[in-house]
Amino acid sequence: MCALLVGLPDVTVIGVGEWPLWLRITIASAVDRAECSCGGVVHRHGVREVVLVDLPVFGRPTRLVWRKQRRRCTACGRSWCDENRELGTARCALTTRAARWATVQVGRNGRAVSDVARDLGCGWHAVMDAVVAVGEQLIDHPDRIGAVNALGLDETLFARVGRFRTQLWSTQIVDVRRGQLLDVVPRRSAVEPCRWLATRDPNWLAGIEWATLDLSASYRAVLDTMLPDAVQVADPFHVVKLANTALDECRRRVQNETVGHRGRRDDPLWRARRRLSIARERLSDDQHNRLMGLLRAGDPHREVWFAWNAKEVVRQIYDHTDHALAAEWVTEIGRDFTDPEMPFEVRRLGRTITRWAAQIVAWHRSHVSNGPTEAVNNVAKRIKRVAFGLVNFRHHRVRCLLYAGKPDWTLLPTIQP
Ligand SMILES: [Zn+2]
Repeated sequence: MCALLVGLPDVTVIGVGEWPLWLRITIASAVDRAECSCGGVVHRHGVREVVLVDLPVFGRPTRLVWRKQRRRCTACGRSWCDENRELGTARCALTTRAARWATVQVGRNGRAVSDVARDLGCGWHAVMDAVVAVGEQLIDHPDRIGAVNALGLDETLFARVGRFRTQLWSTQIVDVRRGQLLDVVPRRSAVEPCRWLATRDPNWLAGIEWATLDLSASYRAVLDTMLPDAVQVADPFHVVKLANTALDECRRRVQNETVGHRGRRDDPLWRARRRLSIARERLSDDQHNRLMGLLRAGDPHREVWFAWNAKEVVRQIYDHTDHALAAEWVTEIGRDFTDPEMPFEVRRLGRTITRWAAQIVAWHRSHVSNGPTEAVNNVAKRIKRVAFGLVNFRHHRVRCLLYAGKPDWTLLPTIQP
């Protein structure tokens, strides 16, 4: 009955005991015959106990105590221990089945490592090391990445470390059409993504027709050098974000120039900050009138008003469905925004948009042909939820890819840590 409950092949249960913290199950190998390759006589040579973290039994954290038989050959002098990879290995503190279970919990279900460690009654690193050992085999499986038609590059902040809260960045490489995370590489410079693309099969690279990016020069360099034939598409989310940032900066500057200090509760511009960021069509008439009133009170030269309008105009780029109309609209934006009457932030926004006009308009072509969507941002949000704060890049990569990289989970029963 005990052996049935423990459920491991080829073992005998020697004893079960309860220690204050864990249930301890002591087992030994059921097969007691061993032969040496030289054909000599084999003697038993003591027992070594290995304690492994196993799956919780009836809600209690459990330790599997494996009494490994040491053997020695009298003829050649070789000595060795029982091995059973299905049970566990010396490299992993968890039994093989517990390591697989932890990988599912952390990788597919997106649970916190500390949460899983509490269930198992062991330390954080024991669980994370097991997840890395099993997870890396899953995510590095050659069949995980299929043919890709639209590739996206995006930066992710994944931790802040040290006294100065130094930011750690990584670059995510995404199959934009399927919303699958292909890989994560360190830092946000052009070097690592280039290296990653350079190791790909040329045929695979040739299949990429579209490449989306945020408005950063380093990713543009990556795509210019590694994927010269792919059409570059600026990610709408980042274009609109840029316009919102310009509005924000303008508001803060005007606030400082007119009142002489940062926003306080009663300042009109401070009170307007929320409404400024809401889309025009989502403001009721009443809210809109109040916003205009606040701007009249706090914005004597109508600079924030210009910036607010600029933001709305940039958003309207994506209301167009026609490629030619959108191109005209973007050219007009570049001309209007750089007018000397405009506040500094808007002129800078205009210059950026002109520089990226081709990429911004390319979205309209790709979009109508069922091309790149906002999958990049969805993947980024998912990743932020599960992997923020992991300081070690290898841990970060495994967590991200298990969660958003669509590994083939049916392979899991064949993988040993
Ligand atoms: Zn021998």
